[in-house]
Amino acid sequence: MPLFQKKKYIKITPNRSLNQDPRTNPEVPDELFAKCPKCKHSIYVKDLGAAKICPHCAYNFRISAQERLSLLTESETDFEEWFTGIETKNPLNFPGYLDKLEQVKAKTGLDEAVWTGKAIMGDHSLALGIMDSNFIMASMGTVVGEKLTRLFERATLEHLPVVIFTASGGARMQEGIMSLMQMAKTSAAVKRHSNAGLLYITVLTDPTTGGVTASFASLGDIILAEPQSLIGFAGRRVIEETVRQTLPDGFQKAEFLLEHGFVDAIVKRTELRDQLIRLLDLHLGKGEIHV
Ligand SMILES: [Zn+2]
Repeated sequence: MPLFQKKKYIKITPNRSLNQDPRTNPEVPDELFAKCPKCKHSIYVKDLGAAKICPHCAYNFRISAQERLSLLTESETDFEEWFTGIETKNPLNFPGYLDKLEQVKAKTGLDEAVWTGKAIMGDHSLALGIMDSNFIMASMGTVVGEKLTRLFERATLEHLPVVIFTASGGARMQEGIMSLMQMAKTSAAVKRHSNAGLLYITVLTDPTTGGVTASFASLGDIILAEPQSLIGFAGRRVIEETVRQTLPDGFQKAEFLLEHGFVDAIVKRTELRDQLIRLLDLHLGKGEIHV
């Protein structure tokens, strides 16, 4: 189940309390400023740039699937969405779940917590998955698992490499054991894709946790991560209470995982597209690596 509460992608700083006089305190549209969750600076949103990086401390704000896609591709025609319209059967008849899904769909413009499709980057066609933590903390239910499994299966048939940007609070609590089953299902699809000699790259973004970390996110031939991303299985407090030890500083951060061999490279958000293209080039036997 999701381990971490959803955070707003961009925390908006309130501009004016209701009882202030608008003549002496002219109203500023809310979306002009964002507060950095790390260094707490208020930042003019335009200064974050398209990559949404804090100019003071280089914190990577969480971004939506649409924003991520725009950083990876050159135009809208470089992405063809696959596997839309798959709906959950609400296997546990979880009260209020279907209503919540409808609300989140309307709010995010997504039909589930992962976007899947075929993308063009540089000279390469690839199968691309982007998880969006705006959608119920990108928890993995039956639809997320099914879309990702189909992505690997179609990529295997079409001999395409797969790149997945992970972000997740874990398995989707509202679908119980059916959610957990997606870990085995997606992992099996990754293995069949691998057996066909095809490349799979994961990019772990903040946060990647729970059943997603414990399945397809950790199975990439190459595992990249964004700086300072939280990556783990169980939460820090749960582990400390279980093993009765204090965990080291920076535990579950991308840099700690790189040091311990779990991640192959940490790549700045602004350099990810070029880095992925270089890795795809290499897999085809051309280009040089600069990780
Ligand atoms: Zn900052």
